[in-house]
Amino acid sequence: DKTSIGFIGLGAMGEPMAARLVAAGFALSVFDADAARTGGIAAAIGARAAASPRDAATGCEILITMLPSSAIVEKVLDGEDGALAGLAPGALVIDMSSGVPDATRSIAARIAGQGIAMIDAPVSGGVSRARTGELAIMAGGEAADIDRAEAALKQMGSSIVRTGPIGSAHAMKALNNLVSAGGFLIGIEALLIGQRFGLDPALMVDVLNVSTGMNNSTQKKFKQFVLSRKFDAGFGLDLMVKDLGIAMGVAQGTSTPAPFANLCKEMWGGAQKVLGPGQDHTALARFCELLAGS
Ligand code: NAD
Repeated sequence: DKTSIGFIGLGAMGEPMAARLVAAGFALSVFDADAARTGGIAAAIGARAAASPRDAATGCEILITMLPSSAIVEKVLDGEDGALAGLAPGALVIDMSSGVPDATRSIAARIAGQGIAMIDAPVSGGVSRARTGELAIMAGGEAADIDRAEAALKQMGSSIVRTGPIGSAHAMKALNNLVSAGGFLIGIEALLIGQRFGLDPALMVDVLNVSTGMNNSTQKKFKQFVLSRKFDAGFGLDLMVKDLGIAMGVAQGTSTPAPFANLCKEMWGGAQKVLGPGQDHTALARFCELLAGS
């Protein structure tokens, strides 16, 4: 496929996702705010290094954003050097970041006036599944626009589920991460309690994994990133706290009481405050240990 794609945001996820698109034959222009990353990654994967979001978007049929937040997506689209200044009518924006549904709806409405379509297509599965092209992709927007995106999405994900209108995929993604964050947190608390009782934590993980307490954290995170004390899963604590804020925003916007979800968000937010910025999300375990006096 020779479709030209502008790709903005070459972080933990964006880098392997962009690499898969190039390997599949798409012509990529890539940009990251970190110029050294842009140059280094472009050279490593065989993409063109763009000098600005506008440069990355110029001449593209599809623009993909994989950025920390909706606020940064807007920042990258707007302004003299922004991507919108480079996109032609008929282009399609695919926001694969984990964003805010309301913000996504308003961006889409605004750029529709310029003849530019948009879908939200956030992902789940982390860095390892980004590398293998086995992400779970959620897609929100007009069916015809998702159809146009599909050839590219298929290179990055093994599951593409259409969630409804624009913004619905961002709501779904935030709610997925709420469930994931809750599963991680309750699992860590159980390990701390068990350890004080005299149970071995690695043995506990083995038992959970063949029992009904099993979840993605017990299977893929506790031994690998917590018991190993590596805390390097590649998904930031700051990003998880952002996602929980989005989920609670959806709860508030729909007047849904969710006390357990709110407590979960408070705990992750507390970890961010105590541990400081730039931590991996698996470091939540250290915050739980501090609270427990372990
Ligand atoms: P990251 O922090 O590793 O990467 C973000 C990249 O965006 C960085 O390279 C940064 O330099 C760049 N950036 C920031 N501001 C910019 C700007 N104004 N212009 C251009 N580039 C800018 O984040 P990530 O882990 O790759 O996550 C990206 C998105 O995907 C987030 O919304 C996150 O919540 C979501 N996500 C992450 C994971 C994961 O496991 N890491 C999984 C699923 C979804």
